[in-house]
Parts: sequence; C-alpha cells; structure tokens
Amino acid sequence: MQPMTTESSPAPAPTRRKELIDRLAEPRHYDLAVIGGGATGLGVALDAAARGFSVVLVESHDFAKGTSSRATKLVHGGVRYLAQGNISLVREALRERTTLLANAPHLAQPLAFVMPSYKFWEAPFYGVGLKMYDALAGKAGLGPTEFLNRTETLGYLPTVQSQGPNGRLRGGVKYWDGQFDDARLALALARTAARQGALLVNYCAATGLIHENGKLVGLHAQDQETGRSFDIKAKCVVNAAGVWVDQLRLQDGQAIGREAQPMVAPSQGVHIVVDRSFLPTDHAMLIPKTADGRVLFAVPWLGKTILGTTDTPRHDLAREPLPFKEEVDFILRESARYLTRAPRPADIKSIWVGLRPLVKPPMTMPATPRRCRANTHGAGQQKRPGDGHGRQVDHLSGHGGGCTQ
Ligand SMILES: Cc1cc2nc3c(=O)[nH]c(=O)nc-3n(C[C@H](O)[C@H](O)[C@H](O)COP(=O)(O)OP(=O)(O)OC[C@H]3O[C@@H](n4cnc5c(N)ncnc54)[C@H](O)[C@@H]3O)c2cc1C
Repeated sequence: MQPMTTESSPAPAPTRRKELIDRLAEPRHYDLAVIGGGATGLGVALDAAARGFSVVLVESHDFAKGTSSRATKLVHGGVRYLAQGNISLVREALRERTTLLANAPHLAQPLAFVMPSYKFWEAPFYGVGLKMYDALAGKAGLGPTEFLNRTETLGYLPTVQSQGPNGRLRGGVKYWDGQFDDARLALALARTAARQGALLVNYCAATGLIHENGKLVGLHAQDQETGRSFDIKAKCVVNAAGVWVDQLRLQDGQAIGREAQPMVAPSQGVHIVVDRSFLPTDHAMLIPKTADGRVLFAVPWLGKTILGTTDTPRHDLAREPLPFKEEVDFILRESARYLTRAPRPADIKSIWVGLRPLVKPPMTMPATPRRCRANTHGAGQQKRPGDGHGRQVDHLSGHGGGCTQ
C-alpha cells in the first residue's frame, strides 16, 4: 500500500540504497547524466528533472561533501559585481536571492551587515555604492542601506574597536543581504530533484567517460561501497565535479584526440568559529579591505561567530584540505584589529576549509564546445577577491558561481 501524502507532507524521497543501485543498474538511456552532487550538480539535476528530462546524478562522496558545505554561507545579491560595473549580473544575483529566500525560508534568511568606518571617506564611498545596490534591488531589496553614526555602529557591533587600525571609529554603513545553510540547501535540492524523478546516488564515483564514434554518450561509475561498476548512457553529460572537474575533462580530451587545458585554478578559503562573546550581535561585520586587501567577515552562525576567510592558491586538490598556519594567523590578526577582545588560537572552536573552483581565463580554455556535452564544473562561480562570483560555462563543463546562483 502507498503511504498517504498531503500537499504539506509529501512522501519521503526514496533513499534505500539497494533500490537506488538497482535503478542505476537498469539499462536506461537518460537525457542527462550529472557528475557531482554539490550545489552546481544538484541545481542542474533539479532544474532538468523539473523540466521533465530523465536525469541521473552520481556523487563520489556524500552530497555537499566538497566545497558546497564549506562556504561563508552568504546569499549574495551580487553587491561586489556592482564594483565591477556588471549590472546585469547584479540583477541576476538579486533575482536568485529573492527566489531562494522565498522558496527556502527555513534555510535562508535576510542578514544585516555593518561596515565600521575609521577613515572619513569610507562611509560615503561604500554607502553610495550600497544605495545604488538598493536602487537596483527595487522590490527585491531586503531593507534600506543606512549611514550610522559612531554610537549606532557601536550599538550594532558592541565589541568593535572604537580605536581601530586606521584611527577613531567614525560611524558605519548598514546594508542587507542574506545568509543560508549551504549543506542543508544542497540536501534540499537533492531531495527535491529525487521527488521530481531524478535518480541521485551518493558514494558512487564517475570513473570515466564513454565515447562512441568520437561522441560522448555516457559515463562509467563505481559504487564506492561494493566496488560494483555501471555504464550509464545519456544524451548529455554534465561535469559538475567542482575543483575536481579537470580530471574527467582531460581524460575526455585524450579520448577524442583533442588537447584540453585545465580550467580550474583552486583557491583555498578558511573559516574559524569562535564564541559569540567575541561579537555578541545578530549583525554581521564586514571589513571591506583588510591589511592585504582581502574582505573579512564576522558572521553570526548557530549561536557562534564565524570569522573568515582567506584566498590561497592551492593545487593539490585535497579532499580534506587543512588550513595553513599563516591563514589562521591572518584571520586572528585581522579580527584582533577590529574586535576589542582578540581571539587567540585557544579560542578556536572549529575550522573548515574549502576550495573555490575559480575558472582560469577563457583564452586557456578549449575554443570549440561540442554538441551535446556539458561539463559543469561547479565551482559555483567565483571571482576574486573573496568569494565573488564570476560564471563561465561551456558545453563541456560548468564551473563558477556560488552556491546560491
Ligand atoms: C571559503 C569559501 C567561501 C564561500 N562562500 C560562499 C558564500 O558565502 N556564498 C556562496 O554562494 N558561495 C560561496 N562560496 C562558493 C560556493 O561554495 C561554491 O561555488 C559552490 O559550493 C561550488 O559548488 P560545486 O557543486 O560546483 O562544487 P562542489 O560542492 O565541490 O561539488 C562537486 C562535487 O563533485 C564531486 N565529485 C568530484 N569528482 C567526482 C567524480 N569523479 N564522480 C562523482 N562525483 C565527483 C565531489 O565529491 C563534490 O561533492 C564559497 C566558497 C569557498 C571555498
């Protein structure tokens, strides 16, 4: 007998592994096969399944095990694209922010940010840009940007240094963006895609691509628990393997006799978690330019405070990257310049480290995408500095972008 369901409590997504593996073994020809169960691959799978395509997705580890659980967890409306003058991307990011906040209010909420200012030009400089951001957002705006005096700034950020590295605290700017739970959002995407009919299997790695007459027609996959192998046929293959995307791309190039260049230039980002007493507030603090020009966030998260992040080139593609001592030192040192109580190594409750799948400049990429092949390298998007988002997708691979776009 089928379990009863209602609009508000749909049937649970099928998760019995044996059933999933049996389905994977069926001789089927999918419309779309996706490699990688991070934000990019899951988003692609959900979108395609919702449009009625038959979809299979394989993830070598657990869903969101890669970069998609290691973000700063901010739903950017594209404020940093504004500085680059990329208005259309700001509009798109704002649209996506609205959709996410509306569709998943249990996983994504508005968050107010305060930028303390110590130099006379900082508040007007950043404030005017943020007012433009408000104007572009229109109805999608989450709250107006406000110029704050010194007392108001201290009210929102009670432990911010009143005498900072660049002089006395003058005031600040408050603006709105969003915050989301990256790992849980990924799981929600997976569950929704499954409900739309997609077959998603974790702990099942894509081990190679299948070609027929020079055309990509599917992939080889292997169950990481049993070692059992599968040939999965599909009209289109999307490589959404994040920073690991190049492995299959290069293999693909060899198989068809076309030299492929690596697309990804991984960049490591570290976050540390400290007690909320270091910044006891529901507002996030943003330092737009630290001593070495990076952005520093101090963000409230699950009753604690997240400090980060870094931007360090890293090419070993570690599955569990560890922070470099200099990165942790940098975060502690910069935090100490802006917080009245300096966090020390002993105050660190936990650390997470992620690899941004930054896309290399286009000239190093293959010039002619081939029909019916999509490699999405998920990298979400990213552009420097910080965790900005620049997107680049060809028919082979899609990387770039953040979790939320
Ligand atoms: C420090 C940091 C801070 C960030 N902050 C933000 C933020 O605040 N907001 C935001 O929106 N974005 C942010 N991002 C960016 C965002 O996290 C990424 O853009 C996004 O997670 C990339 O998702 P992805 O699916 O492309 O990659 P991943 O999440 O890495 O997914 C790729 C998946 O492919 C799997 N895989 C690899 N090889 C295979 C294979 N052969 N077979 C099967 N599966 C395979 C991996 O196991 C992995 O799960 C941040 C990133 C970092 C590093």
